[in-house]
Amino acid sequence: MMLRSNLALPLALFLAALAADALTKSPAPVGASASREEEIARAAESLRAKLIETRRDFHMRPELSNREERTSRVIAEKLRALGLDEVKTGVGKYGVVALLKGSQPGGVVAVRADMDALPIQETINVAYKSRNDGVKHACGHDAHMTIELGVAEVLSKMRDQIRGSIKFIFQPAEEGAPRGERGGAKFMIEEGCLENPRPSAIFGLHVMPNIEVGQIGYNSGPAMASSDRFSITVRGKKVHGAYPHDGIDTVVVAAECVTALQTIRSRRINTQEPLVITLGSIHGGNRFNIIADEVKLEGTMRTLNEEVRAKAIEMMKQTLAGVTSAYGASYEIEFVSNTPMTYNDPALVEATLPMMRRIAGDKNVISPRPQMGAEDFSLYQKVIPGFFYFLGVGNKAKGITAMIHTPEFDIDEESLIVGVKVMSNVLLDYLDREASRK
Ligand SMILES: [Zn+2]
Ligand SMILES: [Zn+2]
Repeated sequence: MMLRSNLALPLALFLAALAADALTKSPAPVGASASREEEIARAAESLRAKLIETRRDFHMRPELSNREERTSRVIAEKLRALGLDEVKTGVGKYGVVALLKGSQPGGVVAVRADMDALPIQETINVAYKSRNDGVKHACGHDAHMTIELGVAEVLSKMRDQIRGSIKFIFQPAEEGAPRGERGGAKFMIEEGCLENPRPSAIFGLHVMPNIEVGQIGYNSGPAMASSDRFSITVRGKKVHGAYPHDGIDTVVVAAECVTALQTIRSRRINTQEPLVITLGSIHGGNRFNIIADEVKLEGTMRTLNEEVRAKAIEMMKQTLAGVTSAYGASYEIEFVSNTPMTYNDPALVEATLPMMRRIAGDKNVISPRPQMGAEDFSLYQKVIPGFFYFLGVGNKAKGITAMIHTPEFDIDEESLIVGVKVMSNVLLDYLDREASRK
């Protein structure tokens, strides 16, 4: 279009200025969704005091994996009070699953928060310090639950703008159920949390203290490592410590095994591939002058590649077989639990990023290296595509820097509001895309 009046130049300049302004931000959404984003922002801001109170309540009353009785009760009560359509309790022990039906037709999307705390004594002196001695929400699951409840509250008042349904999953025992007990994502999936109705995608987040509050971290593809917990038993022959040649000394054999297992990482797997083999405990023998006939070792293996994982497991067996047989000893290795790699569906990540950037700001959405920690969120991603991202909760200026799983861990509570805003928009945005695909 050509402009012919004498207003042409100022108008052209004005339009150019508008275009330049647009370039610095993510594309503006069209009408309805812009006001929806504002509505969510206002609702999340107005929940500030409530979110902080909820998080502190969970923080003061932490419960260990598969012992989340009170936590589960509080969540179910809050969801029922919000008028959610189906609130099921007792899913995978203390899990809670609820559905929020929008008033427009569409698909189903799920969001998951974990509920358990850790056997760590809290050392920080805050008003909301853990009142359960020796137990602390040191992995931020108190914040995860608070944010998911906040999202449920915000969206429960916006049913007319929801195209489809949102499934809220609250999962116990993410850190691992006590030995011999079923638990975590696996148990919840077995108990049908991804059925009736089946979501076509799942979202989740984890707090991250090395990301500043206000920022979001994400990875496309591998995001967190696979984790295999293993236990090894080396068997030999007991004899008087003064006559080692008449026995088989498993302390010496185990020492060689420890060293040899480290060469899988350093000498045998491509150096460009992340792999961790950690032996966290070693126990054997019962007296200074008796040759130990048994040594037990326990450890964890982490990778970001299924092929590397399979290879490393094979190499561990080979190595143990070779070393033990050289001394006439024998071994057993048992992989007692495993969590696959957290793998974010690249297409889902790509489709979600524009909304994340619009809510958090372009420069606040960052892509750090994948984590070598593991998450059982990965098990849902084995069933349906999922996106697990990191919520910045650190604040260097305020001295909030302690890592998760430490006695000093804490969060900047401003992150709760950011978390609610981002997740609420991400879920509605996903349902919009699903509805327009049909
Ligand atoms: Zn943890
Ligand atoms: Zn965690």
